Formats: sequence, structure tokens, C-alpha cells
Amino acid sequence: MKLLVATGNKGKLREIRRLLQESDIEILGLDTFPDLPSVVEDRDSFEGNATKKACEIADATGLPCLADDSGLVVEALGGAPGIFSARYAGAQADDAANNAKLLKAMDGKSMRNAAFVCVMALVLQGEVKTFRGELKGLILEELRGEDGFGYDPLFLVPEYGKTLAEIGIETKNRISHRGQALRQVLAHLQAK
Ligand code: IMP
Repeated sequence: MKLLVATGNKGKLREIRRLLQESDIEILGLDTFPDLPSVVEDRDSFEGNATKKACEIADATGLPCLADDSGLVVEALGGAPGIFSARYAGAQADDAANNAKLLKAMDGKSMRNAAFVCVMALVLQGEVKTFRGELKGLILEELRGEDGFGYDPLFLVPEYGKTLAEIGIETKNRISHRGQALRQVLAHLQAK
């Protein structure tokens, strides 16, 4: 089957393609439909935003559609940046600016607990369903590692003693919030 993955984020698309490479699902990216209007992520939860994206894109294309909304939830910051993770340091912010803002916000804080959260919404045969994955870790005081994207270099996975930017894509996919959510999606698709 064809599945349209509603993300413009190349890092996420790469991880999703890799996770589904063994399945018989053909992944299409949004680049297949360059004229689609962009979806405004204005809901107040990961579930709300993922559902809105998946439903709007599925309506516009008529294809089964998978959308995700993900972000970093930091305990000492009351859950920030949360649903605003992509634009934490401003609408045009890049990863470096977001990481710099996070480091500053965490300066002097001893409580470093955080979690990456991913909610995937799947629209299939007129039905929408959501799947949630979560990875717990700690925010470091400096960047470590070259791989991955986003906040990966600041996110230490204690069990591995490595950040998500050091751990390698295979391991990241095995343990990550996105991997967990996607495996639930895959199980659901295979049970159909
Ligand atoms: P979204 O496109 O609204 O889901 O934005 C998610 C944002 O959360 C990304 O732009 C990253 O800043 C951050 N994020 C989500 N997942 C990851 C991850 O696996 N590693 C690092 N940062 C992530």
C-alpha cells in the first residue's frame, strides 16, 4: 500500500523510511504533492496537532496518511518547549538556535529530566487513530555528537551513557519515541 507521510522534516522522514523499509508499505513524502497548502499546527497537544495534520492531508490527497507531532518535554521548564519544540527560539529558528536557547534556559538547573514524545496519527479508510511513544533522558550542559537532528546532541540516554547524536541511527530507532510510536502503527497496519 501507499502511505503518505505528512512531514517536511527530512530527519524524521529518513527515520520513518528506515523503520518501515522491511514492510511492503511504499512511503511517499510531501514532496510528491508540492501544491498542498501547509497545515497550521495550532492545537494545544501533540495528539491534536498530529490528528489535524493527518486529517487535512488525507482529505486533500485521498491517500492513507500518517502525520506525527513530536517534541521535547523538559520537567524543570514546566514541559517546555513541548509542542513548540521546532520553533522554540522563533519561527525561523534552526536546530542550533533552539539548542542554544535550551542550554540558556537550563543554566544552573540541577533537575535535568526530560522526555522526547512522539504522537503519530494515522488516517486509514476514513478512520483516525493515534499512537504515542516516549523516551526519557537527561539534558546535558553541552552538545555531544554529530548525528541525528534537533535536540539530539543535548539529550543523554542514561542507559547508554550517550546522547541521541552519538548513539547511531539503528539504536536510536530501536529506542526512540518515534520508533515506539511507529512500531505500533506498523502493528496496526499489519493487523488490518
Ligand atoms: P514537529 O515537526 O512539530 O513535530 O517538531 C518537532 C521538533 O521537536 C523538531 O523540530 C525537533 O526540534 C524536536 N524533535 C522531535 N523529535 C526529535 C528527535 O528525535 N531528536 C531531536 N529533536 C527532536
